[in-house]
Amino acid sequence: MIKSIADLPIEGKRVFLRVDLNVPLTPARGVADDSRIRASLPTIEHAIKRGARVVLASHLGRPKGPTPQLSLEPVAARLAELLEREVILTDEAVGDGARKVVADLRDGDVALLENLRFFPGEEANDDGFARQLAAYADVYVNDAFGTAHRAHASTVGMIAHVAVKGAGLLMMKEIEFLGRLLGPVDKPYLAVIGGAKVSDKIGVLENLLGRVDAFLIGGAMANTFLKAKGAGVGKSRVEEDKLALARAFLKKADDRKVEVLLPVDVVAAASLDAGEGQVVRADQVPGEAMALDIGPETARGFADRITRARTVFWNGPMGVFEKRPFAKGTVAVAEAVASCRGLTVVGGGDSVAAVNEVDVGAKITHISTGGGASLEFIEGRTLPGIAALEVEA
Ligand code: ADP
Ligand code: MG
Repeated sequence: MIKSIADLPIEGKRVFLRVDLNVPLTPARGVADDSRIRASLPTIEHAIKRGARVVLASHLGRPKGPTPQLSLEPVAARLAELLEREVILTDEAVGDGARKVVADLRDGDVALLENLRFFPGEEANDDGFARQLAAYADVYVNDAFGTAHRAHASTVGMIAHVAVKGAGLLMMKEIEFLGRLLGPVDKPYLAVIGGAKVSDKIGVLENLLGRVDAFLIGGAMANTFLKAKGAGVGKSRVEEDKLALARAFLKKADDRKVEVLLPVDVVAAASLDAGEGQVVRADQVPGEAMALDIGPETARGFADRITRARTVFWNGPMGVFEKRPFAKGTVAVAEAVASCRGLTVVGGGDSVAAVNEVDVGAKITHISTGGGASLEFIEGRTLPGIAALEVEA
């Protein structure tokens, strides 16, 4: 079992809280989107309220060694604003400066260690680095679901050196809702899968086969499936080396009587920069055109199924939603997921961005904060950062 921070003795204790503060920055080094900081607030505030001495740690970007542009400084500033209290940023993740900051913390104080990835030991899961981090902690709490699929020093290595461990409130929520999708749920249960590549999503498709009643497939992925069935897809993005895989999946689904709904119409254009697309039959995309969105008939069909479902998992946009002329299918799906009264879960970086753009987040049961991590979870894989939190019941 995994203990929630709510059930751990943290009063007056130094709590090492691994959070995901890996936010996008503006060119002027401001925080471009503070959603991840906000998502971490409930656990941080919980720890403060209970009088813990909070040591926050996160990575930011992919630095190769210390990189001033990737300092957590703007994140610390934004976090301090949101918490309405001081957040002391250490000069380095480990070292004399950080040790002093942590030693001086009083109950309810908050420190943030500088970018963990300035040290190669973080990603290498180096035991020496892990022990240095562990030295700050009476209690270890991981709330960084977005990095739970990585075995790094702060997500795995250090945990063996701390006596008490558990998950933050966000991590508990992710495990609960993503976990539900892999257990008994109300039916009909639909998986709406889109996005770029079959190869990114095949693990998800395979693990959901046998659980869901139907797959609704859109996005560039759908092109590979359509071509595998012999459709003319023009110049659409297709993974030629995945046609056999797509065919094998369709066969397996058919054998198990699981529906796989592919687009019947698409919005096609000669280029991504076309001002508008043309609606054509999905199997008759003109030679010089690419399918860049699902068409209106497909969108209506998908939306209808989604609205009436009792459980929906959605990952992957239905088209190139970043471009206005090709966003309608994704918007229609986002609205349908929002209007579904059952359990609705959205995972994947781009799908979550789409949900936020359409501004329907509040009507969705759970929006996963982990892109790659949520996919690996739904693939049924063991995430090392979650496995490392397990304790005997
Ligand atoms: P997620 O991050 O939600 O898992 P993906 O990363 O798999 O989603 O896919 C998102 C990307 O797929 C977007 O950049 C989008 O533009 C692209 N995409 C979707 N449909 C198409 C299409 N028909 N042709 C080309 N690219 C597409
Ligand atoms: Mg993506």
